[in-house]
Amino acid sequence: MHLYGTQSVNEKGHLTIGGVDTVDLAQTYGTPLIVYDVDLFRQRAKSFKETFQDAGIKSQVAYASKAFSSIAIYEVAESENLSLDVVSGGELYTAIRAGFPRERIHFHGNNKSYAELQLAFDEEIGCIVIDNFLEIELVKEIARTRKQRMDVLMRVTPGIEAHTHDYITTGQEDSKFGFDLKNGQADRAFLQLHNDPYITVLGMHCHIGSQIFETDAFRYAAEALMAKMVAWRDEHQFICRVLNLGGGFGIRYTEEDKPLEPAVYVKEMAETVLAMTRSHQYPIPEIWIEPGRSLVGDAGTTLYTAGSIKEVPGKRTYLAVDGGMSDNIRPALYDAVYTAVTANRMNEPQTEVVTIAGKCCESGDKLIEEARIAQPETGDLIATFCTGAYSYSMASNYNRLPKPAIVFVENGEHHLVVRRETYEDITRLDMSFNSSMRGEKI
Ligand SMILES: *Cc1c(COP(=O)(O)O)cnc(C)c1O
Repeated sequence: MHLYGTQSVNEKGHLTIGGVDTVDLAQTYGTPLIVYDVDLFRQRAKSFKETFQDAGIKSQVAYASKAFSSIAIYEVAESENLSLDVVSGGELYTAIRAGFPRERIHFHGNNKSYAELQLAFDEEIGCIVIDNFLEIELVKEIARTRKQRMDVLMRVTPGIEAHTHDYITTGQEDSKFGFDLKNGQADRAFLQLHNDPYITVLGMHCHIGSQIFETDAFRYAAEALMAKMVAWRDEHQFICRVLNLGGGFGIRYTEEDKPLEPAVYVKEMAETVLAMTRSHQYPIPEIWIEPGRSLVGDAGTTLYTAGSIKEVPGKRTYLAVDGGMSDNIRPALYDAVYTAVTANRMNEPQTEVVTIAGKCCESGDKLIEEARIAQPETGDLIATFCTGAYSYSMASNYNRLPKPAIVFVENGEHHLVVRRETYEDITRLDMSFNSSMRGEKI
């Protein structure tokens, strides 16, 4: 069993997070409940930022907020001086509602709508990360119509794909994101942007994958982008001020995962960029990164109440909990593996192997195939670890299950930051067909 961040076990044998008893949290807020260890988020944020400072490199660490988007997490990100990546009008709107500094908001996405781009101009955000030729047209048109400037980064695909423990370099990348670096697309896009009076190209961006455990892929990506920056300097006297190397830093979901410290990735990037700038006499660019999972992943723990226990003799024991793929679709979607504990009986041996199933009407709704927990009993509090990234943000109302509540814990205090959905919430967008047919105003 591995505990994360401020997790500990108290004298009652209960799992605590941020100095708060998880059994008390479950009683206060109900289950399923997602608990965020705010201190762990802060530590991760600091270690990324401080490593850049130690290397003497100007940086921005942008929280890739698609991993978990809410007003409260944006407030914490702002208090840690992070920047923010948003990928939709909805995330941008949430950031504005959270009072996030607009100049530190970066707008991503491979199919931003005209309305979403307008919102970015309305709010005068920090930059738009341009993904494709249609977007170049739209952004130029909006800027010209409004006579309003905009800073942009160009998203490029360097022909490197990283997969967890391995990466491959491909001649040309088959990706829905960004301009290909090698087939001339990036050069064409650059000229279309660079020659526009309202647009300033700040630099280049790439994001090579997710849950990456080694540094080579980042080094190759940095070298590929810097080579193009040198070419554009030589051909167009253009100096790139920002090199954004994306996110994707791996975290530990199970004991098999061996993540590197955030600082290791950052150091490797910094060294690669500094070496390239020296050999080409290029001014040192700012390095921006975009961690999502590595900021919030292991800071999140989901608490469930155990319900039915079904033994299939000779096969397995199913322990069903009061949530499932509706609040964490990653096991069903990506075969993602998690670990769990019996949070109300932490001092008992956590050695019983059970399958933790959700309550959705899908055979595939299994949260953990082989969880090791205490001898299961109905009513137990089951905690699944590392659910802070891509779980609530991908949650659905499948089977009309209400989405869970979210609490932030820190220094012995707990704060409700997303309230639990009610049945009322679930039906709030429904309109009656019968009433409409009768011409009633509702
Ligand atoms: C998803 C995404 C990230 C964050 O990825 P993580 O694996 O969560 O760190 C960063 N940048 C871009 C452009 C992304 O799409």
